[in-house]
Amino acid sequence: MHLLLLSNFGDIFVITESKSSFDIYFMEQALVEADLAEKNGDVPVGALIVKNGKTLARAHNMREVLGDVTAHAEIIAIRKAAQAIGSWLLEDCELYVTLEPCIMCFGAIIQARIAQVYFGAFDPKTGACGSLKELAGLSNSSINHHTKFQGGILKERCSNKLKHFFQKKRNSAKLKNNIVTGGKENEQ
Ligand SMILES: [Zn+2]
Repeated sequence: MHLLLLSNFGDIFVITESKSSFDIYFMEQALVEADLAEKNGDVPVGALIVKNGKTLARAHNMREVLGDVTAHAEIIAIRKAAQAIGSWLLEDCELYVTLEPCIMCFGAIIQARIAQVYFGAFDPKTGACGSLKELAGLSNSSINHHTKFQGGILKERCSNKLKHFFQKKRNSAKLKNNIVTGGKENEQ
């Protein structure tokens, strides 16, 4: 059993246990961000960018709230981290994100030369870091010289959060439909 033993010195966390505890701590923080997205009616995805154990940026999906298709958690986190260090180059940074990045975010990650990406849930529909057959091998191709990807960190918790969100959406859509049709659609 791994114990999470992190000492908080200001904003810097010192690892006194295994690397996996470190990963779990930051993925939990990304899950907190995902909750903020859900509160705004956005798909619950959260991201963190970490450098030398220090959180440079935290962000959540804001596509609905901003009406911006590019406002994925990873993109916002990358922008914030670049602002924090005054450079677009994030080569010594790690990105934690609760869902496997899509192809847009994959492109931004590669461009920013992030060292390591840890993601939680796999995304069989749009995941560009191993899930989509058409894109399999992209992360190992010649366009990527810098970034390593590892999925499945707190996988269950990350994917359950998404499942519950979509289940709630479906239920409220059904309820709305019943109110509009007076339940007649269900009588057929
Ligand atoms: Zn994305």
